[in-house]
Amino acid sequence: MAQQDRPAPAGVDPTKPSIARAYDVVLGGRDNYAIDRAVVGEMLKIVPELPEVAAYNRQILSRGVRYLVEEAGIRQFIDLGSGLPTQENTHQVAQRSAPDARVVYVDNDPIVLAHGRSLLVENENTTVVTADLRHPDTVITHPEVRRLIDFSQPVGVLLVGILHHLHDSEDPRGVAKAYMDAVPGGSYMFMTSFCASFPEAAALEATYLRVLGTGRFRTLQELQGFFGDLEMVDPGLVSLPEWRPETPISHDLSVAERLMAGGVARKR
Ligand code: SAM
Repeated sequence: MAQQDRPAPAGVDPTKPSIARAYDVVLGGRDNYAIDRAVVGEMLKIVPELPEVAAYNRQILSRGVRYLVEEAGIRQFIDLGSGLPTQENTHQVAQRSAPDARVVYVDNDPIVLAHGRSLLVENENTTVVTADLRHPDTVITHPEVRRLIDFSQPVGVLLVGILHHLHDSEDPRGVAKAYMDAVPGGSYMFMTSFCASFPEAAALEATYLRVLGTGRFRTLQELQGFFGDLEMVDPGLVSLPEWRPETPISHDLSVAERLMAGGVARKR
């Protein structure tokens, strides 16, 4: 049976696909429209395992945030390109270990604020800001960001599943560096991104660019460059399931397992 779409909230154009809504389709959510399902259909023709990839990305998000709270002692997070609320959002993971953890979600898609407000802003330590992460100064000086984030204390900067949506001309490395320059020593950058580690990467990149307008598959070496001179946390930049897995991995990784890479690094 065809899905009954919810009415589009103010500012949301249901005739144009959106990154946040396409990701929601892949995650099996309800906050998407026919156009989003159509673009995901194109992507699935090349890599049918995309839902698995999204699940790996959400799983590493949980493992990474847990690491940052429990082992690195981080108590404040800026989650850039946070996406629509789903299971195990950053504040839920962080506040389970540290109830006083503060989280600012930043996304430029108005649907994230529309659907996120009730689910993501569950307490006074959590907020959603509509802003373009390509303008770090605007984000860093935003009153809501300043209300929850103390820039004299270590910050967890999350760039999870987002830098592949920045074109090379938008200087993703410079954007990441601007955030890390704004936070003190002892802060962490946590990044995951599409990785050109499998034969279909070029075809999938071409499809992303055609139907969504963004989606760069970069080499591990290019992705490593995004961390600059930060100190990598073990095991470094690896395929998502290889980053501190809950159970050891003893098989050759599938395309879905290699499609994205991620890592965590510390500012000295
Ligand atoms: N971080 C979440 C995760 O990994 O599960 C969501 C990732 S989703 C693939 C990417 C999100 O980044 C979308 O919600 C999209 O709206 C947002 N986004 C894309 N470009 C952005 C920009 N320039 N500024 C802020 N958010 C952006």
